Amino acid sequence: MSLQQSPAIVLQVKDHGDSDKIVTLYTLEHGKIVLIAKGAKRSKKRFVNKLELFSLLAIHFAPSRHSSLMRLDQADLLNSFPRLRENYELYIAASLLCELVLHWTREHDSDEELFRLLVWALEGLSMAGGAVNRTIIFFHVRMLDILGYRPDLTGCLDCRVLGAPGVLYRFSPLRNGLVCSRCEPQATVSSQPLSIQTIQLLRRVQDMEQGKLERLHFSLAATREAIALLRRYDHHLLQREVQSWSFLG
Ligand SMILES: [Zn+2]
Repeated sequence: MSLQQSPAIVLQVKDHGDSDKIVTLYTLEHGKIVLIAKGAKRSKKRFVNKLELFSLLAIHFAPSRHSSLMRLDQADLLNSFPRLRENYELYIAASLLCELVLHWTREHDSDEELFRLLVWALEGLSMAGGAVNRTIIFFHVRMLDILGYRPDLTGCLDCRVLGAPGVLYRFSPLRNGLVCSRCEPQATVSSQPLSIQTIQLLRRVQDMEQGKLERLHFSLAATREAIALLRRYDHHLLQREVQSWSFLG
């Protein structure tokens, strides 16, 4: 079978036996794929410094006839994002983006928009300065959109009102939208309080152009609420812990 090629971001690397590595990548043309890099542990030459988390590679791989595991033949380094490896906070943020794509996508389910969003977010973090959380929030909200899990933040799911005076709003992961304190006076365990400011910010993130992100200002309180919401949403829908969240400051 002929070799296939694709740009790819490394999502996960695991040792396999004495000499091989198993690499999970998110590729432009094939979505998430799992490949075996034969001899990657022993012979440093072929894959040196390439099979690292969140590196952007141009890969050549061979579909396997005998098992579901395909072989990684060659990898050329396009961008190792060195700045993200020198700073703990940036490293954790970049790891989180990769872990989200790892858990939220299925194998061989390609999505060019998601691939480009991931590369854009890694590049953004590389240049981010202080806007790490904003990049994470933007990436996560847009990823949910692309994958068809857009939370409904337009108003309370029952009365359709948003911003009624004296009314509190909570996000229900179970119903994938907002409920207000008039319609549901008793908060459920999994629901998360959200201020109107945070709801409006998240709605703008859902709809704004990628290039205009820097116009958005997230207060500390809105950042905390948005991050808590996304983390809870992950936990509810994936039914597992996304580990990088717990390392984020
Ligand atoms: Zn309501």
